[in-house]
Amino acid sequence: MAALDGKVALITGAASKRGIGHGIALALAEAGADVAVSDIGRRSLVARAEPQDWRGLDSVVGEVEALGRRAAGIEADVSRGEDVRGLALRVEEQLSRIDILVNCAGAPQEPSIGGGWELPEEEWEHVLAVNLSGPFLMCAAVVPRMLARGEGGRIINISSVLGKRPWPRRPAYNASKHGLIGLTRSLAMDLAQHGITVNAICPGIIDTDRAQARPDPLQRIDFTGAPLTTEEFVRREVPALHRGTPQDIGALAAFLASPSAAYITGQAINVDGGWYMA
Ligand code: NAD
Repeated sequence: MAALDGKVALITGAASKRGIGHGIALALAEAGADVAVSDIGRRSLVARAEPQDWRGLDSVVGEVEALGRRAAGIEADVSRGEDVRGLALRVEEQLSRIDILVNCAGAPQEPSIGGGWELPEEEWEHVLAVNLSGPFLMCAAVVPRMLARGEGGRIINISSVLGKRPWPRRPAYNASKHGLIGLTRSLAMDLAQHGITVNAICPGIIDTDRAQARPDPLQRIDFTGAPLTTEEFVRREVPALHRGTPQDIGALAAFLASPSAAYITGQAINVDGGWYMA
């Protein structure tokens, strides 16, 4: 029997072919779970970086079903309470329950600016709405259903190493990911007695389509604002000397979702090749 047999997982932000959400969806399905995947549309916001034949949520659903699990693909904007409540309802209608919630949807890092204080208000609000209010709204919709069933549950929030140490000139992204670790710890306090664990995964530099989708290919800057290629950055900062993969994140998510991780809660665990050791 696989570790997650009979469990149902819901993963947001999972339509991108090379995305972390896709990697998590496959890892949980391989571990035995039925899987609902969600994104803001049938196709990811990074769709223009993807191969023509990739059909977003529908492709992920096909892959999960090919592993012998039930699957559903449902569109929802995590920053809108009404969408999120509808999403939880539809997952229960189609797959009957939600045991594992993975909050993976994320706004792109805001464009580079002179200094953090110069970020336009609407950029700040957008990033916070998706990266921090989104996971809160998802938990508000899903946790009462977990409590009503009384069988415990798992919540896994995809934060970032930038949730522990900031990146220059990205105030909204840094703050949202720091805040997500705070939300993780707060809900872990409240839910431990109900057998619901809440943990954060903090990816380091992961090879996804985010970078390609950005208008500025030089994603990394040093403290002076000078550009660095991702390769230069990795050689300087990451002891493993290479980027991580969505599978690296999926492996930890599958473990945290399993019965073996029942006594782990309120943690924020780095998956970063040794970049940040705290
Ligand atoms: P990605 O851009 O491929 O995935 C993010 C997904 O979220 C996209 O499919 C996008 O369409 C979706 N999304 C955006 N806004 C949404 C909304 N309002 N509602 C629903 N879905 C929405 O990027 P990724 O690299 O796979 O990132 C996944 C998560 O991992 C994000 O939370 C990101 O912040 C985090 N992360 C990524 C890295 C990395 O190096 N790639 C590092 C640390 C943390």
